[in-house]
Amino acid sequence: MLEELKQKVYEANMLLPEFKLVTFTWGNVSAVDREKKLFAIKPSGVPYEDLKPEDMVIVDFEGNKVEGKMNPSSDTPTHAVLYKHFEEIGGIVHTHSSYATSWAQAGRSIPCYGTTHADYYYGEVPCLRVLSAEEINEAYEYNTGKLIVDEFKRMNKDPMAVPACLCTNHGPFAWGKDAVDAVHSAVVLEEVAKMAFRTELINPKVAPAPQVLQDKHYFRKHGANAYYGQH
Ligand code: 13P
Repeated sequence: MLEELKQKVYEANMLLPEFKLVTFTWGNVSAVDREKKLFAIKPSGVPYEDLKPEDMVIVDFEGNKVEGKMNPSSDTPTHAVLYKHFEEIGGIVHTHSSYATSWAQAGRSIPCYGTTHADYYYGEVPCLRVLSAEEINEAYEYNTGKLIVDEFKRMNKDPMAVPACLCTNHGPFAWGKDAVDAVHSAVVLEEVAKMAFRTELINPKVAPAPQVLQDKHYFRKHGANAYYGQH
């Protein structure tokens, strides 16, 4: 079932090693079929070089396996919660990409220091609070997703305007309108994380880019008055 979706998710997963976002099996990509309320996701712990399109696992929004020979990614409950509550997203990526994970381990949101960031993320990329012991022991992966949804709501952030976040002591989740768009966000996040790190090294007192410049760059690419590209 959903052979086309499985093929797309397979191809998107294979972009992670190509863009050097994963070491060994440290990451996963999924994509959703909104009509069927099902998503396809990478099987857990399978090396990218061994991966085949038919290995993708089909899962429902409660995180139950619907089809597949293998176990889905251990992060499946996180993906399920995000699909259930972020209704506009079509694909999700989790990696342990080095620079983004370094900010997550430091417990710091990535400030918007320039237009590379502002072109893709409206404001800082948030680093979310640490999960409690109960949240970790009770249902770690589900609660990771719930935290992302709850915190975006609390911060009044539109997940399509900030298509990524950092989970403290863990790493980044990124998303987009489909699997490839989600990988695009994960690649940009890693670059932005690297640049922000170097920016602070060069000037530890640096301030975020002026809001007017952030607005200019974000809104020339997104929203009703966008004019970037070939419209
Ligand atoms: P899976 O192989 O189960 O998807 O785990 C990868 C990972 O990065 C866990 O955080």
